Amino acid sequence: MRFYSTRNDSETVSAAQAIVQGLSKEGGLFVPEAFPQVDLEEVCALPDYPAMAAHILQKFLTEYSEAFLTSAAQNAYGPSFHGKAGQLSKVSDGLFALELWHGPTCAFKDYALQLMPHLLVEGKKILGRQELTYILVATSGDTGKAALAGYQDIPGIKITVFYPADGTSQVQRMQMTTQAGENVAVFAVNGNFDDAQTDVKKAFADKELEAELAQRNVRLSSANSINWGRLVPQIVYYFAAYQQLVQSNAIALGEPVDFCVPTGNFGDILAGYYAKRMGLPVHKLVCASNRNNVLTEFLRTGVYDARRQFYRTTSPSMDILVSSNLERLLYHMSGSAQKVAGWMDQLAREGYYQVDEDCLAKIQEVFAAGCADDVAAAGQLREVFEKDGYLCDTHTAVAFHAAKEYAGQAADAVPMVVLSTANPYKFPKDVLAALGQTAPEDEFEAMDALAGYTGTRPPEELRGLQGALERFDKTIRPEEITAVARMA
Ligand SMILES: *Cc1c(COP(=O)(O)O)cnc(C)c1O
Repeated sequence: MRFYSTRNDSETVSAAQAIVQGLSKEGGLFVPEAFPQVDLEEVCALPDYPAMAAHILQKFLTEYSEAFLTSAAQNAYGPSFHGKAGQLSKVSDGLFALELWHGPTCAFKDYALQLMPHLLVEGKKILGRQELTYILVATSGDTGKAALAGYQDIPGIKITVFYPADGTSQVQRMQMTTQAGENVAVFAVNGNFDDAQTDVKKAFADKELEAELAQRNVRLSSANSINWGRLVPQIVYYFAAYQQLVQSNAIALGEPVDFCVPTGNFGDILAGYYAKRMGLPVHKLVCASNRNNVLTEFLRTGVYDARRQFYRTTSPSMDILVSSNLERLLYHMSGSAQKVAGWMDQLAREGYYQVDEDCLAKIQEVFAAGCADDVAAAGQLREVFEKDGYLCDTHTAVAFHAAKEYAGQAADAVPMVVLSTANPYKFPKDVLAALGQTAPEDEFEAMDALAGYTGTRPPEELRGLQGALERFDKTIRPEEITAVARMA
């Protein structure tokens, strides 16, 4: 399988090149030249999640050996997922939650970041590259921890994470600062997430630094969600959800299903689109946004307008105004790298673009959209808990809201799967508040209060952090990020 750039489809690269390189020369994203087809019956008969992952990955990563993919999938989705990779839970009749938070960091980014490092190392091997890959990550919370956990002690790779000193929760900070591993480092940055992000981008763009590092055989890289190696593992759990619906007789093989996805950078939901194009019977993909509802407007009108106020919400991982992965969808829907390049150029220069009617119509055949502000999401979280006895986090609550709104309008009701992206104990204070309870200031006390009120149990990965040794306690100024990069 070869890959095009979304902004230039006159040349192709291999899967290993797409993964090692990350972005195309023109700044475009890599997309597969075709949608490989799966035999649904065969996929639904696979014995476990790692087997399903290896099967799906093989279709795209054709230069990677089957033996490698099988062992990589077993390593990635083994004991650290407690046997619950891709677990589907019934919420109520016709409504299901795909729980993507049973991994080591308790959020869905583990699916990509537990596997991606192995794909990168093997990709370098395939290409015969020997350099040290130095990964810099600016994070507002979740990505940093998932990346640290994924790259810990991976040979040929070093990773440093920068987080805003006052911008993460106590638990998010401790998840990062307690990270084990010889090849990891973590810094607090005086400033907000954008300050950290800006200076990480400056380091990437610094030609002098690049040359200096190249002399020492070091190459900078990012772990962000536009790499094909992060997207492809996410296709798998859509098939896993479907398999469980069939096995539990909720549907017969071949019957359609809806998915609703709490969305930020559009990576997770886009993986659902790939699953559909590969032959999974997906009826609609419902894109759920919080108050930063650029995507809701885009999917309804065809106008993508990022010129708006940015809001901090109780679903921080969805607080995004420019959803990078949407570019891939635009390429597939318009079929024109030239059009995509034009729209992206206009977005960069003017802050908005509008797709043509034909493209919008094609998008709307597959996608629906909804949004919920913090109050609506909290109301939904409480309702799902009190009515259905199902506890979800603040991001997933946004999706339940959009899913129910969509189901209320849809004439042809089919089973709905909501992607549940974080463990509720990652956000214990907001979850308690949504349930109408007064939340203690300390997050560990809040976890205990949440456990007491709901009769559920916090995961050891989070509750066990209390009192743990914080290895990394340095705070730097944003301008010092380049100097840290130089120390590779
Ligand atoms: C990253 C994240 C999302 C958004 O996923 P995208 O792929 O960026 O759309 C939703 N929920 C949680 C908890 C996340 O960490």
